[in-house]
Amino acid sequence: MVNHVLRQIPAIHELQQDKRFNELAKNYSVSKSKLTEWLQEAVADIRRGVLAELVDLENLEVVGIDDVIFSSLSERLSHHSSFKLRRVINGTGTVLHTNLGRAKLSEGAIRRVVETAFSYSNLEYNLTEGKRGSRHELIEELVQEATGAEAAMVVNNNAAAVYLVLKALAKHKEVIVSRGELVEIGGSFRVSSIMEESGAELVEVGTTNKTHLYDYEQAITEQTAMIMKVHTSNFKIIGFTKEVSIQDLQPLASQSDLILYEDLGSGALYDLRKHGVGNEPTVSEALARGVDIVTFSGDKLLGGPQAGIIAGKKKWIDQLKKHQLARVLRVDKMTLAALEATLKEYRNEETVVESLPTLQSILLSKEKVEEKTIHFQAKLSPFWQTEMRDGVSQVGGGTMPEVELPTKLILLSSQAIKAQLIHDKLRQGSPAIISRIINEKIALDFRTITFNEIDEVINRLTEIEKELS
Ligand SMILES: *Cc1c(COP(=O)(O)O)cnc(C)c1O
Repeated sequence: MVNHVLRQIPAIHELQQDKRFNELAKNYSVSKSKLTEWLQEAVADIRRGVLAELVDLENLEVVGIDDVIFSSLSERLSHHSSFKLRRVINGTGTVLHTNLGRAKLSEGAIRRVVETAFSYSNLEYNLTEGKRGSRHELIEELVQEATGAEAAMVVNNNAAAVYLVLKALAKHKEVIVSRGELVEIGGSFRVSSIMEESGAELVEVGTTNKTHLYDYEQAITEQTAMIMKVHTSNFKIIGFTKEVSIQDLQPLASQSDLILYEDLGSGALYDLRKHGVGNEPTVSEALARGVDIVTFSGDKLLGGPQAGIIAGKKKWIDQLKKHQLARVLRVDKMTLAALEATLKEYRNEETVVESLPTLQSILLSKEKVEEKTIHFQAKLSPFWQTEMRDGVSQVGGGTMPEVELPTKLILLSSQAIKAQLIHDKLRQGSPAIISRIINEKIALDFRTITFNEIDEVINRLTEIEKELS
């Protein structure tokens, strides 16, 4: 029986003559040679299945072996043709979700990315003078304007910024850091590991909950190059604590000729405290306290593309710009285009919240979330039960963990299907929808779902309903 079935598998050149072969090549816009590779894989798989008797041989005879081959080929094509990096609807309410790509770009930033990607640009060409220019200059002025820094540059991300600062300015020297600030951020960023990698020597002072000025003082040696402060963005010790402020460290650093460096992490350019959200100092404030260098992310509170911004005293920034690593960690034109447009939005204090999706989502009131929730409920089929309830959303991205943004949640369920299964189907569908499970129900937080996406969520739930009935 097995041999009989195997003999029935047509030769590849015969299958290539089948009109389905040509149709698939055309529909999926792949070359015939690529399609032949996948066809060979499909045939090999079926051959293996038959030999191992994993396939129902009688059924194979009934269906017809070439139908089986072509449907397997077609599945392969649809798998290969869908993009791996896909759009996701974020129903978690967490605004800066690191796993879901952090900040959404503003429309202005997206337009600039498209325009810049579409044509040549003056990325490293000074149009006034007609000679080689520097890509750092493209955004330096805007960072200066937004933060009051003397100078600035941009690298791939904030981890890269920290690495460059340590490597270029403190390699083979000592860097003093408080034990209370040696945190791990976002699951993979550890100050101690980056420090080790950079060749700078970490000198830990104080204890986890308390560090005093004299701890720093006593740690200073001939070898010390820098005092580093790390904004412990995703971690808060509550209670009996003491940390030394930049204002207090500044005189010590300057007496001993040390660089005072603060890794700010998020780097807020807009003061969210005005709206009663969090207690995050702005970058300008951090610099005004007398720190020499700060570093921060482009895609956290700033609301732009992935990038690491280094700002501070010109003397140090100039050294960093000249370092070989700056070349290694440099950002591309699309990042610069998006960052420039994002930074420009900050020039208008009145419209910046409206323009940048990150700020807009963080500051969206509970009432505004509720409007979306009601709109969703009104469109939903009675197959689904929903209840609305108060909840909290998070800023995310390791930023302001103590902040709870009041929100309205939808808890959705159906007698016909378990929450875990809905959760999986939503995640695996197209577009992928990320929800949470609370009390055996699907929780959706519309803070991070746009009005336009509501219809897509409804459509997906309708599809699931149809699959079940
Ligand atoms: C997030 C964070 C980083 C890492 O920044 P990336 O832009 O993710 O590389 C470094 N330091 C602090 C304090 C952070 O919060």
